Parts: sequence; C-alpha cells; structure tokens
Amino acid sequence: MTQVFHRHCHSDLPFATRGEGAYIYDQSGKAYLDASGGAAVSCLGHNHAGVRAALHAQIDQLAYAHSSFFTTEVAENLASRLTDKAPGSLNHVYFVSGGSEAVESALKLARQYFVETGEPQRTRFIARRQSYHGNTLGALAVGGNAWRRAPFSPLLMPAEHIAPCYPYRDQQPDESLHDYGQRVANELEQRLLTVGPETVIAFIAEPVVGATAGALAPVEGYYKRIREICDRYGILLILDEVMCGMGRTGTLFAHEQDGIEADLVTIAKGLGAGYQPIGAMLASDRIYDAISEGSGFFQHGHTYMAHATAMAGSLAVMDAFEKDGVLARVAPMGEALDQRLRNRFGDHPHVGDIRGRGLFQALELVHNRDSKKPFDSRSKLDKRIKAEAMQLGLMCYPMAGTIDGQRGHHILLAPPFIINEEQLDELTDKLYQAVDKIT
Ligand code: PLP
Repeated sequence: MTQVFHRHCHSDLPFATRGEGAYIYDQSGKAYLDASGGAAVSCLGHNHAGVRAALHAQIDQLAYAHSSFFTTEVAENLASRLTDKAPGSLNHVYFVSGGSEAVESALKLARQYFVETGEPQRTRFIARRQSYHGNTLGALAVGGNAWRRAPFSPLLMPAEHIAPCYPYRDQQPDESLHDYGQRVANELEQRLLTVGPETVIAFIAEPVVGATAGALAPVEGYYKRIREICDRYGILLILDEVMCGMGRTGTLFAHEQDGIEADLVTIAKGLGAGYQPIGAMLASDRIYDAISEGSGFFQHGHTYMAHATAMAGSLAVMDAFEKDGVLARVAPMGEALDQRLRNRFGDHPHVGDIRGRGLFQALELVHNRDSKKPFDSRSKLDKRIKAEAMQLGLMCYPMAGTIDGQRGHHILLAPPFIINEEQLDELTDKLYQAVDKIT
C-alpha cells in the first residue's frame, strides 16, 4: 500500500524513473511517448540540458529568497522577457507557483482594482460553461464544470456562466462561422444586462479551451466582440492561458492570434515546462497603475512567489523557445499532427471532431457521428482509453468534459515542441489502436 495520498485512491500507477526527450521511462525500462506533456506541461520534453544547467547554476548560487525581503535578477529578467512579448500593455508580472494560484491572483486583483477605483459594488464574475480555471475555491467557482464544483458548491462564490464558442456543437446549419461567433459572444452582453453590468467585475475565459472541451479554439471575430462588450460595460477581461499559453498554440500567448488585448492574463504549465512549479499573472498598466497610485499594495501573496530556482528554470525555457528555435517548431509540427489525425481518424465512426491550434489538438469522441450523441457518462471511456494507451506506451489526456450538463468525451494531445515526424507517427498509430479498441 502506498503512503502517498494519490488523487485516485485505488489506482495502480507505474513508477516514473527517468525522462529523455519526448519519453518517460518506468521502473521496468518501458518507454511512454509523452503526447500530452503530462497535462500540457512538458513543452520542452524531459531532461533538457539547458534547463538542467540553469537550475544547477541557480541552486549553487541561491535557491530561494523570500519576495518580501528581496527581488532577484532572474525574476526581473524573466518578467521583462515576458512583458516584451506580451500583447498590449501587460507590463507587470506577478509570479506564483502554479495555474490555480495565478487565477486566484487575477480574480482578487480584478476585485481590488474596483474597490480602489470607487466601484465596490462590483462583486460578480462571468465565465463560460466549458471552462476549467483550477481547483482552489475561487478558481473552482468561476470554472464551468458542474461536476467538479458539485461537492463544494455551498462554499463557492456565485458566478455566472454563458455558452462557450463551440461550433461543432452549437453552430446552426444556416449560420456562418462568423455569425455564430458573434451570436455566442453576444450572450455576454445579454447576461450583463440581466444581472446589471455595474455589479460585474470581469469576464474570464480560456482563449483556447483545454481540459473541459479539448483544444476548443474560438472562431474569427469572437474575442473582438467579447472585448467590445467588456469595454462598453466597463468590465475587465481576464484570459486564462495556463494551458494554452507559452507557445502551445504557435505564438507565445494564444490570444495574440485573436488580435485583442486583455486586462489580466494567467500563465503556468509551459512557463516552467515541468522543471519547476511556477505560474504568473500579467497585469496591464491600467490595473497596475490604479493599485500603485491607490493603496500601493496588492492584498494577496504566497510564500513561494518569484522563487529564484523556478525563475532560472523558466528563463532557460524562454531561451530554448527563442534562441534554439523551439517555439518556431510549433506551427509546422502542429500542422503535421493535424494532418495525421485527419488521415487516421477522419472516417472513424466514433470521432466526431478533430480540432485545435498548434501542438494543442483534440479528438471529440461520440457514440454516433450523425447525431453527435456523446457516449454514456457512466462508460468511463476516458479512464479506459488512458489505461489502454499507457499499456501501449502512450501518454495522452482523455477527459470526460461537459456538454451542457451531459458529460462528453475528448482526448487532448499536447506533445513537446521538440517532437519529430517519426514520433508523430508513433503517437497516431498508438492512439488509433487505443481509441479503436475501447470505442
Ligand atoms: N487554468 C487552466 C486553463 C488550466 O488548464 C489549469 C490546469 O489544468 C488551471 C488553470 C489550474 O492550474 P494548476 O493545476 O497548475 O493549479
């Protein structure tokens, strides 16, 4: 019996003993192709020499200094590397230890902004039904997955949820993609008018939805309309790029491709590439200046903020992205993956949709392709596919998402950016075997 309190008490997990490139090896020496980067984390693969060297060098000098006593050169450098690349005026970076902490920080900073600027009656957030923003209580409250929220619902702040941009499910036959995008974006305006726009703090959304919908990218024009609505009613726009950010979709920030600017952006996962736990919230000048000229103090903080070793690791990740050209691989390798998925699964009777951006791709599984009927929520399809794939030596990320109350299934793929063509073939072959056997 294991003394580690695993999330699934009865799971029988292999021991991971080493990693190399796109593979993790277990205690028997069996190799697993990491086609999901764990949970879209390991964007550089495993045992990256540059990151390893940077971590060693930092630990030799200084592992940690509490952020209320010191700043460090690595934290300052990492912040400027990120803000140099970020769209708009996201010029201020608040470093934390992971995605949920980044989201909590954004929710609290958004609220504090309105308290300090004389609108304390703003107390609500609006989010989307297919969304995941983390498991801490604030992040869970805005997340759209009713199943995750259920046991904790009496403890959660109330939040409003509107439809996501999900053309495979919701586009009408007589509607263009553009019109569909405008229609679902307009749900934000309708909800604002219902609840009273003066009571709302912010709208929060994942630019490309990860865990709850499977690499669901917005249609053209959707986010421009969302931004217009936010501006019209004076609410903030928080973009959660914890999963889809840090190059995963082909650009450092996913929302660069939507031509908009956010007030607050959260990142994590790929920021540390799995080498250290790290997350960050980027704040725009407007938000930062209001706090700086107001109380001068963000009423929030964590012990491991701007942890020096984590900062050094992430700087090496940025070096690999830029100097080694790893980020530039994402778009072409994403196309190569998309092509392979379409070739193999295009006619599969239980694959309803193939979608994604860059190296962030997914298959939506359906019981019936014509009616788009999902598999029964009790089928445990996600767990069975994951187990079969692991048997075959493949890590992928099957999830039971939510389709408006029902639970649908998809498989998320988020391989390391260093993956090569041969490994993409291995990925597609093994995935096909697992999906075909279990569906
Ligand atoms: N936000 C998004 C979009 C995520 O995908 C996740 C994790 O999957 C989180 C927040 C929470 O991040 P963490 O698990 O690091 O707390």
